[in-house]
Amino acid sequence: MSAEQQPQPDPQRKTLDDRAKMTELERIRHSCAHVMATAILRLWPDAQFAYGPPVENGYYYDVELSHRISPEDFAAIEAEMKKEIKANHTFEKLVVTREQAMKDAQSGRLGGLAERPAPSKFKLDLINQIPEGEAISYFKNGDFIDLCAGPHVMRTGNVGAFKLTTVASAYYKGDEKNPQLQRIYGTAFKNKTEMEAYFNMIEEAKKRDHRKIGTEMGLFAIDTEFVGPGLPLWLPKGTAIVEELEKLAKETEFAAGYVRVKTPHIAKEKMYLTSGHLPVLYAESMYPPMTLLDETAKKREEELKNLMIETMDKISIGDQNRDEREKLEKKFHNVRKEIETIGERYYLKAMNCPHHHRIFAAEPRSYRDLPLRLAEYGTNYRYEQSGELFGLMRVRSLNMNDAHIYCTPEQFAQEFNAVNDLYLKYFKIFGIEKFVMRFSTHDPSRLTGDNAKFVNEPELWKQTEDMVRKTLIDSKIPYVEVPNEAAFYGPKIDVQVWSVIGREFTLATNQVDFAVPARFGLTYRDKDNSNKTPLCIHRAPLGTHERFIGFLIEHYAGNFPLWLAPEQVRVLTLGEEEPLLNYAKAIVGELRANFVRCEADFSSDPIKAKIAEAEKAKVHTMLVIGGRDMDAGNVSVRLHGKGNVGAKPKGEVVADILAAIKERRS
Ligand SMILES: [Zn+2]
Ligand SMILES: [Zn+2]
Repeated sequence: MSAEQQPQPDPQRKTLDDRAKMTELERIRHSCAHVMATAILRLWPDAQFAYGPPVENGYYYDVELSHRISPEDFAAIEAEMKKEIKANHTFEKLVVTREQAMKDAQSGRLGGLAERPAPSKFKLDLINQIPEGEAISYFKNGDFIDLCAGPHVMRTGNVGAFKLTTVASAYYKGDEKNPQLQRIYGTAFKNKTEMEAYFNMIEEAKKRDHRKIGTEMGLFAIDTEFVGPGLPLWLPKGTAIVEELEKLAKETEFAAGYVRVKTPHIAKEKMYLTSGHLPVLYAESMYPPMTLLDETAKKREEELKNLMIETMDKISIGDQNRDEREKLEKKFHNVRKEIETIGERYYLKAMNCPHHHRIFAAEPRSYRDLPLRLAEYGTNYRYEQSGELFGLMRVRSLNMNDAHIYCTPEQFAQEFNAVNDLYLKYFKIFGIEKFVMRFSTHDPSRLTGDNAKFVNEPELWKQTEDMVRKTLIDSKIPYVEVPNEAAFYGPKIDVQVWSVIGREFTLATNQVDFAVPARFGLTYRDKDNSNKTPLCIHRAPLGTHERFIGFLIEHYAGNFPLWLAPEQVRVLTLGEEEPLLNYAKAIVGELRANFVRCEADFSSDPIKAKIAEAEKAKVHTMLVIGGRDMDAGNVSVRLHGKGNVGAKPKGEVVADILAAIKERRS
């Protein structure tokens, strides 16, 4: 079979193993995709269906159809879907031979309600994807028969509630050489209540959109014209939050035995060739290099450029014979290649680990120095595709709550547990109640060859994955295991958390690295005087400032607890008499002397307007001071969103503010 005749590799094809793991909700959603296809065929019988998998929050089905489906068609499709659900047909599984499947696809029966004039062309291609020896099956509901390995719910009536959401276009198998299809998205739930809760959450998330609140509160700005897309500027109020988070991390890490380091934002190409991020594995995610030329290199480059121009001129004359021409072209390419190697190339760092590895290497290390925990709020630059950039959630400059822990294999479990404890401590502070650790492992079939994705150390993969799995089980932390998504140098844990309105975010990572320290030749002298390579744990429990603050804005709807609030306190005066202003100024002074972010509004505006202004700015605590308060040595306290909580002695109020900040009360 020639290369052209071979079926194209299929990135979307689920293995039987993946299918067996489909949750009940995914089965409902995938079953709803069949119901939707049934409905579409009732309206447009010539529709050709391709893929219809469940996805996050719903499902889609790709369809080729001359009619351009728009949201105006949804009501008609949904009405047909209701009929199919009401009919409560069973999802019947039929196992067939390959010959039968080919015959039914040829007759247009697959992905159809009956035989049709045109063959089911995508199903034909899909049959070819099914490996020899794997069973071929259909699922049938009513008249609709689809090529499908399942699993499904029992009956169409098990789809409790559904809704079509959007329509987009997508190339068959994601390849632009293939036909463009219409991708119709929908969602389905066990029942109406769950579906309503979901759409309420989406509505609430819109109100809490971090881009909207971030702009209203003056937290950050993205200046695409002068600074660049994906490169957020932290405004003073956003910086206040950034610095509180750094303070939290620094205090927590100090108590946990970390030491802090600082590293430059750039490094030589050699760094990333050694770490393995270059030339291939991570190249696409890095900014292109800066090339520095010294005098000799500049001269050589000049010579080569002239040579290149000369050669190019000769090629373009075009009257040479073929051999001569090929020779010149070869020379041209060689010159161009040589130019590429001239000078010293520097890269913006996309991660901090290689710099930290060089800090480890900067001094001789003994087993007595381990574990060595190097922490840094490092700034990284990653060249995300412009289409993927999204507010603070996907950016090109990232401030990471990073640290690398170098330890012996014996110390690993304890260190790994201590990192998990850090996560739990932070979740408590931020009121994150739902979280799960996504444990990504390697794929043994991708250690070598063109398709290689992971360092070729099968034994080390097994050992470290076993260690991590055991630690997760022992610590009873909820986790799911995901094959084939590890980092190239070791297993990885992504921590997924849910905001208070139930939306899911991936915030932090925790990775084990058994490969890169060896590539950098990092060693420590062990008790027996032999040199050994340390293990390295990469961890970033608070993720990046960008993503974490994006999450916190939604989580708190911008109503930050006192310790995080950009403006913690505002003193508002009721009157303009000199003694009253002096009394108020003294309070502002005392709070600011204690690093409380306190502002004053001594304007002559009516107090109602001043309060409205402070509420709008989401100031956490308002201290309203009038003549009567001053005479009694009191202040009247008002909390954002909660209103007046009464007058209290000045000293008590100040002490309480300081304590709430220190304890990081929620
Ligand atoms: Zn199916
Ligand atoms: Zn790292």
